[in-house]
Amino acid sequence: MRIGRSVVRLTGEPVVGWKIWRVEHDEARTRLRSVLYGSLWPPGRPAIADCKKLLRKRHEAPDPLCECGIHVAKSLREWGHYLAVGDDRVFGRALIWGERLEGELGWRAAAAYPVEVQVPATLEDAGSVAAELMVYGVPVEVVGAPAPAKEVVVA
Ligand SMILES: [Zn+2]
Repeated sequence: MRIGRSVVRLTGEPVVGWKIWRVEHDEARTRLRSVLYGSLWPPGRPAIADCKKLLRKRHEAPDPLCECGIHVAKSLREWGHYLAVGDDRVFGRALIWGERLEGELGWRAAAAYPVEVQVPATLEDAGSVAAELMVYGVPVEVVGAPAPAKEVVVA
């Protein structure tokens, strides 16, 4: 996910943008993780940006000369393909605050928390995923058409 050109460094009022997450869902727990690096978004606590580029000089995230920071989009449409490339993707909106960089397509932020999460009905176990994601304490909704029933082959 790239936020595009014209990067401007900002602080100030929090803003809300679109986010795509990878969902970790098993018997133990259901959690949101970042699509790019798999970083955990902990329930009840902000996700804090951390630079994972090992070859670069240590710096605070986001850094204008790097790609780090929590990527949040101005429009879901721009990054829709990230939803399509995995069968474990959910999406929604996230509040970002603290230092951030703004590009034409979105932001790279220092801190974020989900505002609402939408679980595509086509996701395996969508109802259970949605119920478990309530742990984040924000609205969670199953959206879209239900998955087609699996074909039953009668021998
Ligand atoms: Zn960095």
